[in-house]
Amino acid sequence: MIFRLLFAIGIVYLAYRIGKKLFLPVSQKKEEFPPRPAPIESEDMVRDPVCGTYVPLGDAHKTTVNGKTLYFCSETCCETYKKRKSMH
Ligand SMILES: [Zn+2]
Repeated sequence: MIFRLLFAIGIVYLAYRIGKKLFLPVSQKKEEFPPRPAPIESEDMVRDPVCGTYVPLGDAHKTTVNGKTLYFCSETCCETYKKRKSMH
């Protein structure tokens, strides 16, 4: 009885191994994308004072308020900041 169970497990394991071998070339092909040069993560990150999101300097929405350069994730946050400032 126990041998039958072990045999069944062995079959399942073998099927898994064969299946892995068959599908592996496909997954390897998927990884053939050219590696991205210079990831954005290495870029300087700036903090959006409105929502607190960190944005790469290159993608940030820049604005100058009272001579200070501020960075926002989007124009919406920039407008929100300006509105808040004018309210005080
Ligand atoms: Zn934001």
